[in-house]
Amino acid sequence: MRSAVHRIPTMASDLYLKNARVVLEDAVIDGGVLVSGETIADVVVGTPQIDAERTVDLGGQALLPGVVDAHVHFNQPGRDHWEGYRTGTMAAAAGGVTTILEMPLNATPPTITAAEFDRKRESVRGDAVVDYGLWGGLVDNNLSDLADLNERGVIGFKGFMSNSGVDFARVDDDLIYAGLLESRQLGNLVGLHAENEYVTDYLGKGLRESGRTDRASWHQSRPPATELEAVQRACYWAGVTGGNLHIVHVSIAQGVQHIAQARRNGVHVTAETCPHYLCLDEDDFERLGPAAKCAPPLRSRENVEALWGCVLAGQVDTLGSDHSPCPWEDKAPGMENIWKAWGGIQGLQTMLPALLTEGFHARGLSLPALMKMLAANPARLFGLAPRKGVIAIGADADLVAVDLDRTWTISADQLLYKNQHSAYVGRTFRGRVEKTWVRGQIVYEDGHVKAKPGYGQWLRRGMRYAY
Ligand SMILES: [Zn+2]
Repeated sequence: MRSAVHRIPTMASDLYLKNARVVLEDAVIDGGVLVSGETIADVVVGTPQIDAERTVDLGGQALLPGVVDAHVHFNQPGRDHWEGYRTGTMAAAAGGVTTILEMPLNATPPTITAAEFDRKRESVRGDAVVDYGLWGGLVDNNLSDLADLNERGVIGFKGFMSNSGVDFARVDDDLIYAGLLESRQLGNLVGLHAENEYVTDYLGKGLRESGRTDRASWHQSRPPATELEAVQRACYWAGVTGGNLHIVHVSIAQGVQHIAQARRNGVHVTAETCPHYLCLDEDDFERLGPAAKCAPPLRSRENVEALWGCVLAGQVDTLGSDHSPCPWEDKAPGMENIWKAWGGIQGLQTMLPALLTEGFHARGLSLPALMKMLAANPARLFGLAPRKGVIAIGADADLVAVDLDRTWTISADQLLYKNQHSAYVGRTFRGRVEKTWVRGQIVYEDGHVKAKPGYGQWLRRGMRYAY
């Protein structure tokens, strides 16, 4: 049968990516994508002959929208030896991530005022190879800075309900309440790390005083109930204030279910979970130790499967890596005493392959559903749509070619992070990123980063909250 052409563009295109399984918002088609300049000019069905300056035959590989990772920690400026924009965004490109949204803490100073925001932008200018946006911080107490940060274009305000471990003061109910009110006023959102400070602190102290230094003591100090209470409290205040709330890295199924119920009740709240809560469990933590230490901690296998149930049921809005780097020297002391390891998992480069393996291949999650959580939803939630997040005419040509069936094992030397360690080292994936384009330019191809540092552009929140 002759293949049907959806539409032939009148202007010659710069790039024709043909012979792919193109992942659209609600369908997968056998076809191709035409790119003019930096944007998608057309999506075609089949493999029609089309004049373009360059044609790339993808040989039946999947063509996905570039991942929008809304939860990335880099450390520039101030702690550049942990991770910088150059190496960090190179790892993103290798992982099919075309936009990163960077958290306001773990760099020094944190992005909590307009002046610090300006300083951050100046510091990272010229380094990124993928596009990026910036979170602002909600701390105790910078309420008077939120409007200026919003004016600067921050995509959200991040707050911690429990201590963050760095110079970034946590917020209590007063600031959560006031910050949510302000988010509503500004048309922005508050992103919260939801764990109960008082009970986790109490449990942690007790375990340490009893001499516990083993790995299990870490997750015993932060049990599911301490997360669920914080999720419920945050949702409660979002309902009372009418503010816009996004709860980051929800690690428990009950937390996601509570958020889904709150949204059904009219609360403006969304849920993110992360690949490590879906791919790793407490037994992995016992085996891996410091490299897999994070907060909330890895959970039981039972919870991992229940969380997958939430993902498959469409209750999770976004998937973000919570990529959190540090030098190995900050992890190593945890080999003897888990309390002494820095918390955070490096997972930016492996997020897409990990979720293709565990979601698409192992559990039947469809590619459109996966990419909704990895790209379309975060783009919409953080005001980057319709430019980012989908393969559609007029959108930025942020695209990823993936060999869905290629099986490969990640080794430390393949990691492009400044510090080459990760809880995923040694893990075998099915599905590999072969090529990544950002705004029509190839930035990663077959193991090599192609873009020059500085190609990546800064993105501001382009619209008010309207999820
Ligand atoms: Zn984080």
